[in-house]
Amino acid sequence: MTKSYSNVYEELYTYAKTLPVINTHSHHMTSIDQTYNLDTILRSSYVNWCGVSFGDTSESRRQFLEIVRFNSYFVWLEKGIMDIYDLDEPITEENWEKVSDIINKANQNDKYHLKILKERCRYEKILLDAYWNPGSNNNSDLFARVFRTDMFFHGYSSGLTDHNSNSPEKYIGSGIKDIDEYIARMRDAITIKKNEGCIALKSAIAYERSLDFNEVPKEKAQYAMTCKKDDLTKDDIKAFGDYVFFNICRIAAELDLPMQCHVGLGRLKDTNPMQMWEVIHKNPDTRFVLFHGGYPWTDEVLGLAHNCRNVYPDICWLPLISTSAAEKMLIELIEVSTIDKICWGCDTWTSEESAGALLAMEHVLASALSKKIAEGYLSVDLAKAIIKNILYKNAKLIYNL
Ligand SMILES: [Zn+2]
Repeated sequence: MTKSYSNVYEELYTYAKTLPVINTHSHHMTSIDQTYNLDTILRSSYVNWCGVSFGDTSESRRQFLEIVRFNSYFVWLEKGIMDIYDLDEPITEENWEKVSDIINKANQNDKYHLKILKERCRYEKILLDAYWNPGSNNNSDLFARVFRTDMFFHGYSSGLTDHNSNSPEKYIGSGIKDIDEYIARMRDAITIKKNEGCIALKSAIAYERSLDFNEVPKEKAQYAMTCKKDDLTKDDIKAFGDYVFFNICRIAAELDLPMQCHVGLGRLKDTNPMQMWEVIHKNPDTRFVLFHGGYPWTDEVLGLAHNCRNVYPDICWLPLISTSAAEKMLIELIEVSTIDKICWGCDTWTSEESAGALLAMEHVLASALSKKIAEGYLSVDLAKAIIKNILYKNAKLIYNL
C-alpha cells in the first residue's frame, strides 16, 4: 500500500527534526537584558516591518493582532513562541501579559536564548552577519564569523560610512588617494578577517545602491578618489563601487570565501538579482550565494542557478516572507539546480523568531518534497537525503565547517 500524502509529510517533517542544522544567516542579538519580553520580541522581528504599532493597552494590542495575525512573519513567530514556551493557545490581547511574563521569566537566565538555539533549533553552527561589528561572533562558538564588506564602497572620500555606520578607514587607514593602494589594503583587511576566523563575506549593499555592477576601468575609480568633491557625480560614485565590488569578488575567490549577497527585498528598488549577471559571469571562480531566493524575483535566481555553476541559491528568510513562495521555489530549485548548493538560514535577531523560521523551513521541506514524492519524481529516502543536504551537509561543505 502506498503511503498517503499526509503520512509522507509527517515522516519527512519528523525526520527533519532529528537533524542538526547549519543556519547560514543570522543577525542574532549580542545579549538579552532583563526586560526581554513579548514586546521586545515583536519589536525586534519582521512583524515590525508591517508598520503596525502596538502600545500597552489591551485595545491597542487587540487592534494590532487583528491586523497582523495572518501575515506570514507573525504566523511563524507565534508558532515559534508557542513551541518554545509550551503554550496551547495563540497570542491574544487577554493572554498577552501572561505570555510576556513567561518569556521574561525564562530569560532571566541570560543564556536561555542560546539554549533555544542549540537545543530547540538544533543549530550546530550559525553564520553571524553582525553588521554592528562586522566579523564578530558575539563571543560564542555557536556563531561563525561573516565579514560584511559594504564599508569599502565608501572609500572614494574621507569620513564616509555605510548604512550601518561602518567606515572603511577603520579597516584600511585614512588618507589613501591611490586606487591600487586602496584595493591592496582592502585585500589585507579581508585577509586579516579570514585569519580571525571569518568563513564568508557578505554584501548588503542592495540596501544602498543598485546591483548592476559593471566592470569599469581602474581610471574611473581613481577619478572618484581624486576629483574635486563638488565635481563628483552619482555615476562616479557608482563606478568606484563597481570597481571595488569586482575586486571584493576577486579577493573572495582568491581566499576561497563564499560571497553572500543580499538580493531582492529590502530597499527593493534596483535589487533584482538578474542585475548581477555581469559580475557573476566575469568572476567564474567566485561563489555567489544569492540570499532570500531573491524574493520577489525568485524566477531570476532560478534562472541564474540554472545557468551559472558559481551561483549558490540560499533561501534564508524566504519561508518567513512567504511560505508559499518558498515551497514553490524549493520545488523548482530541486528541478533546475543541483542538490549540493541549496542552503537555508533564519535571518533573524531573536531566538523565538529563529525557531519560528526553522519551523517554517521544516514545513516547506516536508510539504514540497511530499508533493514530489506523490508525483513519482523521487522516493522518500531520496527526499530525506535532500533535507539533510539543505539543512546541514551543503553548508558544511560550502563554508568548510
Ligand atoms: Zn539578513
